[in-house]
Amino acid sequence: MRREEELERIEERIKTCKRCELWKTRTNPVVGEGSLSAKIVLVGEAPGYYEDLKGEPFVGKAGKVLDDLLASVELQRSEVYIANVLKCRPPGNRNPATEEIRACTLYLDAQLEIIQPEIIATLGNFSLSYIFNKFGLRSKKDKISKIHGKVFTVSTIAGVVKIVPLYHPAVATYNPRMMETLLGDFKVLVKGL
Ligand code: URA
Ligand code: SF4
Repeated sequence: MRREEELERIEERIKTCKRCELWKTRTNPVVGEGSLSAKIVLVGEAPGYYEDLKGEPFVGKAGKVLDDLLASVELQRSEVYIANVLKCRPPGNRNPATEEIRACTLYLDAQLEIIQPEIIATLGNFSLSYIFNKFGLRSKKDKISKIHGKVFTVSTIAGVVKIVPLYHPAVATYNPRMMETLLGDFKVLVKGL
């Protein structure tokens, strides 16, 4: 099956998904966006207010930061793929609950399976934890202040994948100095591509 068709199947399942309670309060689920042949997949946390309204990832304030970061390394949104750990917005943008992550991540797993990226960049702590556990990097996990911008290489049956932990772009909206750090880390992301 073509990648597009496979993703459409996932999308249909997400649209009617009731695997956790978040379906009750969502306006729209946010499946993800970008190229299915992307070398880089960015994994955020969950939709926020605007994402829930539009059904698209990173369209609010953090999305503006993300666009600036991508532009700084001459990447368009259409050249990467952007997804989240949770597909539906937690009310009031509260943290994702463990049961919600457990219920939802089969969709992210399927997306990664379809895209088979060379690089997975985690945005924020929930994404970091999930991806590190998934790829057997649990013992390498440390505070984001220690491991941001570092490359963790893992071998999978599908090939080698590089995992790069990044701060969540939202940090730059309340601490503008973090933009410097994020800009530096994004350079790491495109090195060697
Ligand atoms: N924050 C996220 O983690 N994901 C989004 O899609 C928007 C904001
Ligand atoms: Fe389903 Fe995920 Fe939405 Fe929960 S957050 S209802 S598991 S798509």
